[in-house]
This record gives sequence, C-alpha cells and structure tokens, in this order.
Amino acid sequence: MAIPKFRNHPIIKEFNGLKKFFRSHETSTSKKRVYDFNKFAELITTNEQEVAFDILGSVNFGQAKENSDTDLVIYLNCSEHDTGECDPGNCPNVHKFRTMLHENLKNEYGQSYSIEIVDCINLNQLDHALKNRDLDSMSLIRFGFYRSICRGINRKVLRKYEAKLSMDDELCQMIEASLADCFLGFIHSSQHTYSFKKYVDRLEEDGFKVPLSMAQKINSYLRV
Ligand SMILES: [Zn+2]
Repeated sequence: MAIPKFRNHPIIKEFNGLKKFFRSHETSTSKKRVYDFNKFAELITTNEQEVAFDILGSVNFGQAKENSDTDLVIYLNCSEHDTGECDPGNCPNVHKFRTMLHENLKNEYGQSYSIEIVDCINLNQLDHALKNRDLDSMSLIRFGFYRSICRGINRKVLRKYEAKLSMDDELCQMIEASLADCFLGFIHSSQHTYSFKKYVDRLEEDGFKVPLSMAQKINSYLRV
C-alpha cells in the first residue's frame, strides 16, 4: 500500500486485510493482466507523457477469470485539459490510450479483453493541487483513496505525487477525513457486494474452502 498515513485507517485496514486473503489465492489470469498493464504503461511512458493505472475489481483481488472485465483508473498528464479535470468519457487522450491498450493486447493475444476506464486523474491537475495545497481538491481525495485500496501499475510514475502528499500533514488529514465517505459509496454499490460473493464462489469452485473466520469477516464487512 502506497501512502503510509492512510494505512491504519480502520476501513482501509479491513479492506486490505480481505484483499490480502483473496490475493493469496491469486488466479493466473490476474497475474497475466497485471503483467500486461505494466508492460503497456512502461512502453508508452516517456518524459513528456506519463501513464499509470490503479486496478479495481477482480484483478485487484487476484480473482480474475478469462471472461472478467478489468476496471481501471488511468493517470496521465493530459495535454488537452491542462490543469483541469479529465473526464474519461470525453477526453481524447484517455480515448487514445484505451485504443492503444486494446491494439496492444490484440497484437499480443489475437484478441483483447474487456477494459473499463472508470476514472481518470489528470497528473497536471494533481500536481497543481499539491503545489497550491488545495484543501478542496477532489482529485487529491480520489488519488488518496485509489492509492490506498487499489493495485498500482507503473508505480514509479505515481511515487513522486505520493511522496509530496505524504509530506503534507494538512492535506493528508483532509483526505483521511473523506476516505470513509469515499468508501461508503464504493462498498454500498450492489456491484461491489456481488463481487465479494463471486470471489468466494470462485475459490470454492476451485476446491478451496473459505475459513469460517474469513467468511465472518466478509459478512461483517458487507454490513458496514
Ligand atoms: Zn483529458
């Protein structure tokens, strides 16, 4: 986990404990996808254009199967949106990288798989918010949240932003106060609840019995 100051937040601790359990039974498809995204991000990152990802969903939990979608947050320094917000549905740069990623996977495997870019963080905007110590910055809150719970790809791009944030106690406190709200929205989505059930079913299909203590933890977590 990337930002030490958020590591002991009770909800983050709980979530990452569950994640660690599922990851200890990681599928080969999950490992392959992490490899694919790392390779792609490193390939297209230059001095002028940095690209990194945070992975959510089944690959984050190490439970992806061949037909699983992959949910990604993309980080890029967007030439189109300067230091403004980058909407993944309407940004030509996000569109360009999504297309390149699919092309790359097609070249490698003959076909691509389903990728959903669920959010985009413009690194120019993030940098601007860090420099100006913007206590109302939504991109900083989202960055802190994703970096606390997701699986980072091409992490070296993100480290300087993580380091800058970690040095600023006031910004960290602002983010910490918002993490619970981010989380409640995230875990109360029916998709998320369904995912946990799906991961447990997958492990059991593969002949692995989820220990009672872990099943209780999952149940209590879903009632948060
Ligand atoms: Zn953009």
